[in-house]
Amino acid sequence: MIRLILAWVSGRCRRRDEGVTRAAALFCLLLVLTSATVPAAAQVTAPAPPASPLPSASSTPGRADVDIASYDLNAHWDPVTNQIAGTAKITYRNETGDTLPEIWLKLYLNAFRDAQTQWMRESAGSHRGTSFDPDRPGWITLDRVRLEDTGEDVLPASIDPAATVLRVPLPAARAVAPGQSLRLDVAWTSQLPRVFARTGVAGDFVMAGQWYPKLAVYDRGAWDTEPWHAASEFFADFGAYTLALNVPSSYVTGATGTRDGTVNNPDGTTTHRFWADSVSDVAWTAWPEYRMVSRPVHAAGHTVELELLAPRSMSTGQDERFFVAAQRALDQLGTWFGPYPWPKLTLVVPPSVADGAGGMEYPMLVTLTEPNPAPFGLERGVREVEVVTIHEIAHQWVPLQVATNEGREAWLDEGFADYATMRVLAQMYPTDRTFLDLGPLRLGYEGIQRSQYILESVGEPLVKPSWEYDSFLAYASAVYAKGSLTFLSLERTVGEERFLAAMRGYFDQWRWRHPTTADLQRSLEAGTGSELAWFFQPLVFGTGTVEYRVSAATPRRATIERIGNVPYPVAVALTYDDGRTERIAWDGTGPMLTIDAPDGNLRRVQVDPDDAMLLEANMLDDGREVQPSPVPLLAVAARLLGLVQAALLAGVVG
Ligand SMILES: [Zn+2]
Repeated sequence: MIRLILAWVSGRCRRRDEGVTRAAALFCLLLVLTSATVPAAAQVTAPAPPASPLPSASSTPGRADVDIASYDLNAHWDPVTNQIAGTAKITYRNETGDTLPEIWLKLYLNAFRDAQTQWMRESAGSHRGTSFDPDRPGWITLDRVRLEDTGEDVLPASIDPAATVLRVPLPAARAVAPGQSLRLDVAWTSQLPRVFARTGVAGDFVMAGQWYPKLAVYDRGAWDTEPWHAASEFFADFGAYTLALNVPSSYVTGATGTRDGTVNNPDGTTTHRFWADSVSDVAWTAWPEYRMVSRPVHAAGHTVELELLAPRSMSTGQDERFFVAAQRALDQLGTWFGPYPWPKLTLVVPPSVADGAGGMEYPMLVTLTEPNPAPFGLERGVREVEVVTIHEIAHQWVPLQVATNEGREAWLDEGFADYATMRVLAQMYPTDRTFLDLGPLRLGYEGIQRSQYILESVGEPLVKPSWEYDSFLAYASAVYAKGSLTFLSLERTVGEERFLAAMRGYFDQWRWRHPTTADLQRSLEAGTGSELAWFFQPLVFGTGTVEYRVSAATPRRATIERIGNVPYPVAVALTYDDGRTERIAWDGTGPMLTIDAPDGNLRRVQVDPDDAMLLEANMLDDGREVQPSPVPLLAVAARLLGLVQAALLAGVVG
């Protein structure tokens, strides 16, 4: 999901998802105050040892070796009751080494049954800036759960109506042995809420997410039995899907998967068929007011069919923004992390009345955000459409190919998605204006992450169940801002080329599987040939802090102190009177580093001149001028200009 969006028309900064509101104006100022460093003049001193051979990398991801959780779904939509009458054949293949005497089902929609559910109490009925309407709740009721072959009823006799996870014991003789499959015949009714928290109805607009009973994941010796929490997303196995979606014939539909024909029924409905391989979920949307535009695009050596579903009221002139951002994302991400493995991607732009449905990823389908019109086309300078589109498409890699547990280790998918977004944006725009580019008003997406991190998540561990963070803000700042900066810091610290190759190895090793943070660490260590516990233990698993400062500087001597408790290898750039520069690599293990300049000609000292150490909270004291020079004046002028710019921006975004 995506979290921070500028609302141009309303002229305020708001959260679409968990996270910052009060930081809106502050981040602009902090951005300016924390980003000034001296550009590098000399070669980078890389602290990592030489690379070892990379893990073998396959060029084509292909499909999952094994279909673990497969679904043949039938959904009949009733536009009067806003209910789905669903039936399914669900197949679970036990690829674990354990015999399973029970299975667990996720019943997500029950989170919206009333204002008293655990989910609602955790969220106070508010999510991504939209509020739950208790008069338009959501729920899911199981009508039938049978073993397909014998017809034996395994539906538990008593089910808590607010349960979002359900234990389904199997008859003793039907425990699922390793290598065996279980086939279930299931029927259910889903009530979609007024659009809220990714799913629901607004008028005759329908976005159906988390709408059917889903198998939980059995991984590393246990079922994921965690109820659904407000600050948590999902976790699922891969499988093959078909969907037969029955809606009034006037509706335009879209869904995870490839279209497989339609049948017009005598009752005025149409059945739309879709199928998909190697996906972990299926979502669908239907609305009479969609217009649909398809376009094949080339991405990392493959052709992907893009299908844009946008409100008829949205200007066709905006379509190009979605197509360009999507093509760039698929191409760049495919080049770096392995090609997009499916033949099609559906881009859904919900109408503004269904805002809560936007900014979400499903396999082969992303929900985006409608551009806010502004005079003179100014909305194009606010890259909300591009950021959301790239972020959601980045999720097609994590968690939708590499299926991490989004509840327990959300940084693995959200941190990656924002890191990948920063990388793609940097290919498209100057880095100082990847988010906002309105003449003198400029803001980079990296600056936004830095500001959120500084304000909210310094010292916050990344590996922590989402529901255990103190607040939505702490959760969001940690997993998105600190998470993305963690990936970027690793990249800049070990070197871009080496890091990207190691990430590619991680994808090739873990695609269609469920890695943890420890698995990521091992992949990166193997791929970079560097031991990374010094980074992961304190900064990812722990609450360590990175902080350096230049504590003294004279023409003859400079002293750099490590204030943070994490010894972080860092480069130090020295500039001499004659303009000559020199780089020193410091491993940071001692409390301080003293640099002597016997000729008394030191002019400037700069710690971390390449901004590799993005988890350092205070960068203001990383550089110091020894002697007056024109440089500081220029720097001050630039800083003042930045402050004016930030003040203006604060006025705009409030
Ligand atoms: Zn996301």
